[in-house]
Amino acid sequence: MQITNHANLPAAIVNAVRNDPYNAGACDISVTRLIGPPQIRVLEREHAEDLTEDASDRIWSLIGQIGHGILERAESAAIAERRLFADLAGWRISGQFDRMTIEDDGTLSDYKFTSVWAVADGIKPEWEAQLNILRWLATQNGYPPIRRLLVVAILRDWSKGKARQGHPYPPHQVKVLPVPLWSLDETRHYIIERIQLHKFGDECAANGDPLPQCTEAERWAKPTTYAVRKPGRKTAIKLHDNEDDALTHSAEIPSGYVEHRPGESIRCADYCAVADYCAQRSAEIASREGTANDAKRAQAEAA
Ligand code: SF4
Repeated sequence: MQITNHANLPAAIVNAVRNDPYNAGACDISVTRLIGPPQIRVLEREHAEDLTEDASDRIWSLIGQIGHGILERAESAAIAERRLFADLAGWRISGQFDRMTIEDDGTLSDYKFTSVWAVADGIKPEWEAQLNILRWLATQNGYPPIRRLLVVAILRDWSKGKARQGHPYPPHQVKVLPVPLWSLDETRHYIIERIQLHKFGDECAANGDPLPQCTEAERWAKPTTYAVRKPGRKTAIKLHDNEDDALTHSAEIPSGYVEHRPGESIRCADYCAVADYCAQRSAEIASREGTANDAKRAQAEAA
């Protein structure tokens, strides 16, 4: 992965991004990769030489690293920047604790620098999996029993003004979220399943077969909706997930009309480094363009 500087950022920032010391260590797979889609892992490996990322897209990650460093002031009992290893199902897994503490009562807290949006629906499934796997790894490496998991989310884009407007916006810039605790056996089975899935991805790549597709959740997919609107009103009267329902509804409203709001896979569109090499993404774009053309044709015929 090459870091570019299209935004012409100061050299100090670009160098700080380029000198990121991240290293997954001698392992078959890191926890982050294990949780992630096999398709991304395979495509990143196959196109490692060609992939680029602009330094301007790494600023939040840089700020997170700064934050973890600053938190070192707080306590000395934290497990910071430590990488743990364990073997399972023929693979060596490694996981890094960016900044975690294990209290005497067995509470493991993970400090995350994230956005308000990221915690809007509570714990993200990938955080739940990550922390439970790290707990399993800690157990394998002789740490004391962990009985409770917490994410301490530091909300980088939190606004006092929005907080004043009240619920559901978080009232403070730090939000503590309890993480559902899996049994160690359940976690072990989850890890084995993920390893098998990634091994299958590797086999597909080796045989030239289509790669396992990313799921809707992995693509952060937003569904297509049909908004019933009328002139002079800023917001939609109602959002439908079905075009026929929207057309029937709009016909009941004087001057009502339907606005087609195409769905999008947010990760593919903006956050996936291998999107340019992904057959699934190309197929999705082609399908969306086909649907848009069909809609234009239908509108023209109706006019
Ligand atoms: S572009 Fe989308 S579908 Fe393709 S690998 Fe990335 S997340 Fe998965």
